[in-house]
Amino acid sequence: MLSYQHAYHAGNLADVHKHALLAWMLDYMVQKPKALSYLETHAGRAVYDLSGPEAAKTGEAAQGIALAQGWFAADHPYARALAKTRADHGAQAYPGSPLIALNTLRFEDEVTLAELHPAEAEALRAALPGVTVSQTDGFAMALSRCPPDPRRGLLLCDPSWEVKTDYDDVPEFLRKLHRRWPVGVLALWYPVLTDARHRPMLRALHRQFPDAVSHTVSFPPARPGHGMVGSGLFVVNPPFGFVDEANALSRLFARVAPQT
Ligand code: SAM
Repeated sequence: MLSYQHAYHAGNLADVHKHALLAWMLDYMVQKPKALSYLETHAGRAVYDLSGPEAAKTGEAAQGIALAQGWFAADHPYARALAKTRADHGAQAYPGSPLIALNTLRFEDEVTLAELHPAEAEALRAALPGVTVSQTDGFAMALSRCPPDPRRGLLLCDPSWEVKTDYDDVPEFLRKLHRRWPVGVLALWYPVLTDARHRPMLRALHRQFPDAVSHTVSFPPARPGHGMVGSGLFVVNPPFGFVDEANALSRLFARVAPQT
């Protein structure tokens, strides 16, 4: 039974990190006049209401996008996605990753999304009519759809990590996926945890993909004792310029990083 709901966490500092890099990567990739595929294994509901009870309960968006909004120039692809979402859905709306992607992608690009939770999948379909949404396991969806057509493209894997075996299983999943789709940009989001549970997985990933890039940022826990103290994005086949953009983001996150 799935209990994770992204509405409690939407717009937190991990989302700012993940979504800013996602928007930048796709914006870079659409500069080439060649269609691409965009796939997501764990899509969520695409539109979140930061004035809702979920966001109020955790206060994560108040410590996240509410602080970070001014970090980005108006023409940064993440700032553009945020502005468009708010123009379309209201001043307190926040775009999930599928909406960030659709804001950047073009008519000719192919979008395939998986979301297992029935209510989230229904909300996703309602938010993005005409987009292919599978209410299915995202790992299985990715392996069955890859290599996609068009071959150029990006896949975001953003699990909720509530299934603890995901930490053991993800390296093998990415290995199989990369074997099927060697040219795909594969982006995996992971939490940076005080108990270091993510570390063995990351070591295995770096052994498997020596040329991949992992970018992490640190931030204070959302509440005292909360285990997540940073956000990581592991990218196989990162687009040219990714490291420079990630370094720019590191400088922005230094404003909230705990002093050591
Ligand atoms: N990617 C979204 C974003 O950035 O806006 C957030 C996704 S949230 C971290 C993870 C989502 O995965 C949840 O909506 C959850 O219902 C869904 N989920 C959990 N297990 C799944 C699975 N095996 N396959 C597909 N979706 C799953």
